[in-house]
Amino acid sequence: MSTTGKINVQTENIFPIIKKFLYSDNEIFLRELVSNAVDATQKLKALARLGEAKVELEDVRIEIVVDKKDKTITIKDKGIGMTKEEIEKYITQIAFSGAEEFVNKYKDKVDKNVVIGHFGLGFYSAFMVAKKVEITSLSYKAGSKAVHWDCDGSPDYNIEEIGNRTERGTNIVLHIADDCEEYLEDSKIEGLLKKYCKFLPVEIKFGTKKDWVKPPVKEGEKEEDVKEVEIVVDNIINNPNPAWTKKPSDLSDEDYKNFYRELYPMQFEPPLFHIHLNVDFPFSLTGILYFPKLSNKLEMPKDRIQLYSNQVFVTDNVENIVPDFLTLLRGVIDSPDIPLNVSRSYLQADHNVKKISGHITKKVADKLEEISKKDRGDFEKKWDDIKIFVQYGMLSDEKFYEKASKFALLKTTDNKYFTFEEFENLVKPIQTDKDKKLIYLYATDVQEQHAYIDAAKNRGYEVLLMETMIDPHYINHLESKLKDTGFVRVDADTIDKLINKDENTLSKISEDQQKELQPIIEGVISKDQFTVVFENLSEKDSPMIITRPEFMRRMKDMNQLGGGGAMGFYGTMPDMYNLVVNSNHPLISKILAEADKQKQGILAKQTADLALLSQGLLKGEKLTEFIKRSVELI
Ligand code: ADP
Repeated sequence: MSTTGKINVQTENIFPIIKKFLYSDNEIFLRELVSNAVDATQKLKALARLGEAKVELEDVRIEIVVDKKDKTITIKDKGIGMTKEEIEKYITQIAFSGAEEFVNKYKDKVDKNVVIGHFGLGFYSAFMVAKKVEITSLSYKAGSKAVHWDCDGSPDYNIEEIGNRTERGTNIVLHIADDCEEYLEDSKIEGLLKKYCKFLPVEIKFGTKKDWVKPPVKEGEKEEDVKEVEIVVDNIINNPNPAWTKKPSDLSDEDYKNFYRELYPMQFEPPLFHIHLNVDFPFSLTGILYFPKLSNKLEMPKDRIQLYSNQVFVTDNVENIVPDFLTLLRGVIDSPDIPLNVSRSYLQADHNVKKISGHITKKVADKLEEISKKDRGDFEKKWDDIKIFVQYGMLSDEKFYEKASKFALLKTTDNKYFTFEEFENLVKPIQTDKDKKLIYLYATDVQEQHAYIDAAKNRGYEVLLMETMIDPHYINHLESKLKDTGFVRVDADTIDKLINKDENTLSKISEDQQKELQPIIEGVISKDQFTVVFENLSEKDSPMIITRPEFMRRMKDMNQLGGGGAMGFYGTMPDMYNLVVNSNHPLISKILAEADKQKQGILAKQTADLALLSQGLLKGEKLTEFIKRSVELI
């Protein structure tokens, strides 16, 4: 018996609404329909397990078939199927009732109880690409009759019981609209299946690879009369049991690495380590995160964390779900609790999302602490690669800072690694200044600052290496966190004053003599850039040294890192240095004692140039002059 029904809606045609709703995203129709097929299959499996469905469960694969000639896409499943009543109830009544209301409801908010399936739009997303949809279905229930339904998107649909379907399950046939024919390309459908369905829990078959073969010539047939036939080679699209759904105890290191390769086939470097997430309460979340080994150049994070909902791919735009500082990680997060079809601003405010973000932060910190304790050597080896994440995390997340300050490492210019506590204990005895402040010396460039690093090491000081973009911020942050501790770059002052211990040495030349010498030295350097200061250093130190006060350099650095505004003023400031004259060096006494004014000038100039040279500040014409003068002197 065939019936026709009329759907009670104000709208004459649901196409315009559905197309408008998510037109730009119309490819999700496939995700929706395949998810329904998976649900139907999983339901049947559950019923069979409970003994409520007496069915064969051998082959429950879902199959997608594209027919270019008929311009159809068919999604076939061997799930629970639907009776006529069920189609009328689930497909027509619920979804069709007030199509407009339905669309509005999901536009800007999500009511979790309504999103029973996955995403809300469900079956009707078919009309985003199809001008007509047919359903043929046979329910698993004993004695059911097969049923056929079709609808062209108008409120009128046809439904009838049919006798010619004997296979349990549902076929959905989409008659593709003229403006959506791109979806009839095998490669397009295969691409979408691989994007959205790669880890769905039921095997998905898609015949893509086509081959032509000649059947064997039968008796009485002529070879040339036998035509080649097309053979479709079936492809299983998905891995129904991805690693994150398994128990960590059932997985080896190799399994985790293989799964990484499965997720990112283009990544040749194995990950540094993984974190398996598994939460039941107060929200449910599983997943595996990987710390990637980043190459030197800051690559754009194209391979990003992928977000799934019950193994259905949702997005790889995880902003606001994963804490900012972890967006460079890779891997998978699967949570049915993340609201998916809502705007980003709503996501940010969502309670679950905040909890998830906090949980991930905690897990990452715990894992880092664990590996730092378990194998310190290995952790040190990985440190240079993970440092950027840890520092960024410490800068942006107070809770993470607390945990990380126990395992974060400081690296010295000798490539030795220390925890904060270890380093403090190590340097406290000799790097505390007269005001009881602990001074951490650091260098930003081992080559350029070599002379200063060397001088500091000769004093028994440790020099930290702080060479990355993020380090200036990190230093500021640590100064605000660590008690009575300051950071000073090795070239910020003369070695005696870097860590000022108030140990006065006497000057070999008197104050009057210094006054006499001052203009002579000022005469051989650029006075806008260098300030001449006298210090009583050791005889063994250099006669003249260039230093750059820490605060000056930081001001300039900060300005360069994005000053502008009020700080813009400093941008026009020239680089300022101190030219420190070592009053105790014999060469300085010699310059002072030189009676020949011209000779005195040459000596002063030569000595000052040597100081500039060691700081890489002697260039161009001045360097040429210096070399000529040196040759003459020799
Ligand atoms: P949702 O999946 O969110 O429930 P849909 O509009 O996609 O919403 O589907 C409505 C209902 O129709 C489903 O809950 C299910 O009961 C039924 N259904 C849809 N597709 C199938 C299918 N392939 N097999 C069996 N039942 C189905």
